[in-house]
Amino acid sequence: MLLKKLRHSFDPARIVNLCFAFVLISSTLLTWREAVVLEDAYAASQQTTLDKAASALDRQLQTGVNLLLFYRNSMQTAMQTPLAFDVLNNVQHDFSTVRQQPFWQIDVDARRTLALNGVGDDFVRRHPLLSRDIPALNYEMTAALEMGYMMRLSSVYPVAPERAMYVSRAGYFLSTSAPPDTDDIVARYQRIINSSWFSGQSQHNNHERNVRWFSHTGDKGAYVTASIPLDHQDYWYGTIALQFPVVLLKKQLEDSLTDEDQGEYQLYDSEFRLITASTNNDAAPEAFSEADRHELLQAVAHETTGNLHLGSQFVSWQNLRHFDGVLIRIHSLSAGLDGDFGTISIVIALLWLLFTTMVLLSWMVIRRMVRNMYQMQNSLRWQAWHDPLTRLSNRGGLFEQAKKLTAQSQQTGEPLSVIQIDLDHFKQVNDRHGHQAGDRVLAHVARLIENTLGSADAAGRVGGEEFCVILPDSTLAQAKALAERIRARIAAKEILLPKGRTLRMTASLGVSSGVADEMTNFEMLQSIADNRLYRAKRSGRNQVCASDEDQDSPSQ
Ligand code: GH3
Ligand code: MG
Ligand code: MG
Repeated sequence: MLLKKLRHSFDPARIVNLCFAFVLISSTLLTWREAVVLEDAYAASQQTTLDKAASALDRQLQTGVNLLLFYRNSMQTAMQTPLAFDVLNNVQHDFSTVRQQPFWQIDVDARRTLALNGVGDDFVRRHPLLSRDIPALNYEMTAALEMGYMMRLSSVYPVAPERAMYVSRAGYFLSTSAPPDTDDIVARYQRIINSSWFSGQSQHNNHERNVRWFSHTGDKGAYVTASIPLDHQDYWYGTIALQFPVVLLKKQLEDSLTDEDQGEYQLYDSEFRLITASTNNDAAPEAFSEADRHELLQAVAHETTGNLHLGSQFVSWQNLRHFDGVLIRIHSLSAGLDGDFGTISIVIALLWLLFTTMVLLSWMVIRRMVRNMYQMQNSLRWQAWHDPLTRLSNRGGLFEQAKKLTAQSQQTGEPLSVIQIDLDHFKQVNDRHGHQAGDRVLAHVARLIENTLGSADAAGRVGGEEFCVILPDSTLAQAKALAERIRARIAAKEILLPKGRTLRMTASLGVSSGVADEMTNFEMLQSIADNRLYRAKRSGRNQVCASDEDQDSPSQ
């Protein structure tokens, strides 16, 4: 039983399919793994490239941050220990005379320090963010002038800001850009105190009291301003600021990139607004769709550095250390394919395609071979057990069936019957009508016999014009009746021969029956049936003989 099951599952076609499926799946898994490793390496290389650019940009921006810290420390020191210079003391006196005027300018020494540009007491009183009723007002002013000396030097720094400024909450400001016409002072001061880089430094808005970056539109285009609050004894006096035009930042960004660096870099501020981008030509920077932007924003908010696939783009980002913003690198698929990783990916994909095609082709060929082999095997097996002319079992085939039916009879104890059939005067058919006609008669008779039997019965051609029928679970009487039906059907049938001739045949039949045991086996039953067949022949043919007794008159 188990062997049979095993043999059934050992279906060569199924095994070929399984093997090929295994090869295909394994090769696909391997290729996929290669692709994953490659993708990781690609992501790492992209991150490294971005890292380099971000560090270079960071180093340049650090100059601005250091400068602001330096200014703040200087001013705080100056407020702590003011210099007792007459020129500074005079300023305090000058201020006391002009402070009531709607606007004023105190220009101490235009070649060494910066002018103080101020608004009147009324203006300051009206504005909630401003105040002149502060303890160290005089010290703040002299410290601002002192720093003015140094601010004038800010243009010598490698990344020079367009302007350096100190804006006081006491209603005045100093700026390295040319001193405004006095008429402009009020409007300019108003603009400054409304700006985010100024008000963003209040104690409420900047808890850390550190440098913050703001991007905004200024009088001459887009700017990025770094500002820091000046505090003294827990009071916020004003804001020190450095303003960089965005074009300078763009130049810094492009300077920080190497020549072989493809991809586009974009610098975003803390609100994720695009400040500037490094585009190789003047093309507009790559814009994200709303959904992509949202996804990127989520990712950037979560991690200081990382990467994402957005459609056909590979996007990596890195928060800058000295800037409130994030640097993003966009590597498009087409740029990626141009590089080493692209070439390797294409080669891997092509190799996989080639391998898969070859595997599929060989699978088709082998499957066809296996199918043909299978068909041939089945046909050979059929031929081994069947007679091609009558399509009934041959002698060997019938014996195989007989073995099973005998074993069955032995088990159940039911009788097994055998009918031997021999056509009468068949030789004459050959002699009169030819061998071909004889063959046709044999095939015809075989069909008649077969159609008379039940599904459990077996029939075979056991000699030239001799047939044998095995009937399981049949008594002698039942078998005799069936034999009689066969005889009658053969005798009644008018067989059509070539050339329109017809012929009637008769047959003699011998019947035997018995329960199979050690003594009674198929050969024995067949031999008894054969003897009775010859008795039927001797008694005149076209009859059934089911007994060895003479008195059992044959039926006709
Ligand atoms: P009876 O049985 O009535 O005594 O006479 P018979 O003529 O049938 O007896 P016999 O056994 O002498 O003849 C059998 C003939 O069957 C001999 C042979 O030519 C013919 N035969 C055997 N096999 C085939 C076959 O495959 N095709 C054809 N056409 N004839 C066959
Ligand atoms: Mg014969
Ligand atoms: Mg015969």
